[in-house]
Amino acid sequence: MIEIQNYINGELISAVEGGQLDNINPATGEVYAKVTDSGKDDIENAYQAAKAAFNGWSETPISERSRIMMRIADMIEKNLDELALAESIDNGKPLTLAKKVDIPRASANFRFFANAITQFASESHSGPGNINYTLREPLGVVGCISPWNLPLYLFTWKIAPALAAGNTVIAKPSEVTPMTAFLLSQICIDAGLPSGVLNIVHGLGHKTGDAMSRHPGIKAISFTGSTKVGSQIASIAAPMFKKLSLELGGKNPNIIFADCDYDKMLKTTVRSSFANQGQICLCGSRIFVERKLYEKFRSDFLVKVKELKVGDPLDDATKIGAVVSKAHFEKILSYIKLAKQEGGRILCGGNTVHPEGNENGYYIEPTVIVDLPYNCRTNTEEIFGPVVTLTPFDTEEDVIKMANCTEYGLSTTVWTSNLNRAHQFAKKIDAGIVWINTWLLRDLRTPFGGTKNSGVGREGGFEALRFFTEPKNVCIEFE
Ligand code: NAD
Repeated sequence: MIEIQNYINGELISAVEGGQLDNINPATGEVYAKVTDSGKDDIENAYQAAKAAFNGWSETPISERSRIMMRIADMIEKNLDELALAESIDNGKPLTLAKKVDIPRASANFRFFANAITQFASESHSGPGNINYTLREPLGVVGCISPWNLPLYLFTWKIAPALAAGNTVIAKPSEVTPMTAFLLSQICIDAGLPSGVLNIVHGLGHKTGDAMSRHPGIKAISFTGSTKVGSQIASIAAPMFKKLSLELGGKNPNIIFADCDYDKMLKTTVRSSFANQGQICLCGSRIFVERKLYEKFRSDFLVKVKELKVGDPLDDATKIGAVVSKAHFEKILSYIKLAKQEGGRILCGGNTVHPEGNENGYYIEPTVIVDLPYNCRTNTEEIFGPVVTLTPFDTEEDVIKMANCTEYGLSTTVWTSNLNRAHQFAKKIDAGIVWINTWLLRDLRTPFGGTKNSGVGREGGFEALRFFTEPKNVCIEFE
């Protein structure tokens, strides 16, 4: 059985202590690979490699850093089929989705930041007889920790700006979906990335990830994952004065007014509810519908949701694959149970699915729930699965109150053809990202991140390059 190994100092190696974790295919429930189980010693080895590589990489001309990153982007693209298949098997997501979204985006991340660094400039401020200019220097060795829902997509979203800015990196993918990060190691070797510039260390969050957060030499942690773990990392890293970027959970509202472009809204809402089995931090799991449209929307939406085929992620007809793990499967089911206890009525879904040949996989029907109070646990806690609730509303004030009632503030979608209302909602909704009449339309130059308990800091564009650099002001007086 293949062992997923660490990539340290340019080599693929097993963890020092030699332990292994199971890597499970969620579509079948079977162990199909082993993951090296790293600890403190492996993080230390990765750190020493990254530290030794720092001077060379940070002094490598930007054009050369950019060229190597472009090569990595090209190779991801060239290996799209292999990477997409690996992502689908590791994560349970439909292969069609991995081919269309996950892997192209991983390549785009490298390409985007390879270009962005060539355009990254810093400020200067001139005064009478003096000038200030700001140097933007790389931080040193930085840590990137990513989750399982968009494995290579989010892993590269952190690594690419960190490398482009001249840092050397220790990166930890989720232990639940480590395969494409492992395949990326070989791509980096083949693309000629110098040894030690990127080090990928596999293992458990509370062991490998924790050792990263505590390492005194790691200058910054860029983390994407749950709010709970983000808070644990902050409690360790903040007193050490590490720079922190935290991209955390969400419970996003999808607000639908009767004057919207109905067909576009309906089609997009099916996607924003259930794409990737609802396991995208930006999915809209709380659907608020203006009362005069509510009955029509509910019946049309149910027809569309019932059409979604749940099954083998490798089958092209599949729209809903397996959820990522047994633990997550059980968590989602516990929320469906809670919704019933809270008085919710399940209009469709709510059950597990056992496709022929994949009976032990982790499949859940797309689930639509109604009749819940807007502020109950089902409507305020992150479920992160194929489960949405429908709630009618009467006035703009009511829906803003309901939309803003959770501890989260990641993203929002508003469907309306009223321009004034669209702008007002964009201001009034607590969220880092507001989509009007669209969803998941991403321009990589824009700031990405959440408010409230959805995170601290912004990724994307020059925001990411600013995070991964330290500004130093230089002041010169002429005479
Ligand atoms: P998680 O917090 O359990 O794990 C994320 C990563 O942190 C993994 O690599 C894990 O091994 C590591 N980790 C776990 N405990 C750690 C510790 N004590 N110290 C250091 N590292 C540790 O999250 P998950 O279950 O992998 O992902 C799902 C969550 O991610 C959801 O809450 C989702 O909303 C969130 N998410 C947010 C965004 C965003 O951009 N805001 C994007 C995707 C996912």
